[in-house]
Amino acid sequence: MIDLRSDTVTKPGQAMRDAMSNADVGDDVYGSDPTVNHLQELAADMLGKEAALFCSSGTQSNLLALLSHCERGDEYIVGQSAHTYKYEGGGAAIFGSIQPQPVEIGEDGRLNLETVQSLVKPDDFHFARTKLLCLENTYSGRTLPLAYQASARDLAIKNQLGIHLDGARVFNAAVKLKTDVKEISQYFDTVSVCLSKGLGAPVGSVLCGSTEKINKALRWRKVLGGGMRQAGIIAAGGIFALKNNIARLEEDHQNANYLATVLNDVAEVRVLPGSAETNMVFAAVDPTCLSDLVSYLEKREILINARNPIRFVTHLDIDQTSIEKLVSAVKDFFSRH
Ligand SMILES: *Cc1c(COP(=O)(O)O)cnc(C)c1O
Repeated sequence: MIDLRSDTVTKPGQAMRDAMSNADVGDDVYGSDPTVNHLQELAADMLGKEAALFCSSGTQSNLLALLSHCERGDEYIVGQSAHTYKYEGGGAAIFGSIQPQPVEIGEDGRLNLETVQSLVKPDDFHFARTKLLCLENTYSGRTLPLAYQASARDLAIKNQLGIHLDGARVFNAAVKLKTDVKEISQYFDTVSVCLSKGLGAPVGSVLCGSTEKINKALRWRKVLGGGMRQAGIIAAGGIFALKNNIARLEEDHQNANYLATVLNDVAEVRVLPGSAETNMVFAAVDPTCLSDLVSYLEKREILINARNPIRFVTHLDIDQTSIEKLVSAVKDFFSRH
């Protein structure tokens, strides 16, 4: 199967599986799983933060960040279609009584900072207390410029807000900008990083930040049922991913770029601008043939999302040959329709 639906579909290879099966483990709720501790120290060090916490998913990691920045009745400012707000089931409201203040989000992932400033509420009992600004990088495969993130941090400091990055794919951003990820993470108090996307681990995310924030997050993780015991087995996949799978993200970006180029030659397909900055390509087709296209490709063992524009995501189980197969199948489909 050639699966282009997401970079979450990657399966651990033999070397990662070996690292996992040989992992030294202990009871992580007691803090005595050496592999989990190693992963957390490694992640904190790479992101330039004091501490890190291994989480079951990016959703959990973002929620723990919100819970450690905000109390009941506090508010966070977030993009209208940011993952933290739109795709995490309203967890901040459910578990934290934290009110979102959504803001229009640009196609490039930016929130207009003047708008953000205007939405910071004065200290007045009529209003929720604005406590946190959340950004997302990459957003739909787009990379936020460093200067923009620096301005967002300035705004946060000026207004005494915390600032959190949903950095599910922050290493894709760092590779794209050819910079150390610390150049990005320096602007944020907390950063959530997915190990289970392009980095290829089967499970988990890490939340990185100050010892104070991570201790709060640790408490909430336990409350949410996220205290895992011999979690070193899965943490070992995360260590392997951080040590071996970052530089190779460049290949995913090149493959996305190749995909965008060849797909653009198919008359019935329109590749959208902003595609292939990192590992995602968005392409629009005639909506009336989308479901036929999806099932036609599935018969040729190619999986794509049935959403228009179609989002194609490259990852470590996709190579140039997979892309050639996809494009030739797409061409065949349109030659019959
Ligand atoms: C995938 C993703 C998450 C959440 O990760 P899960 O592990 O699927 O819960 C958060 N933010 C962004 C931007 C993501 O792409």
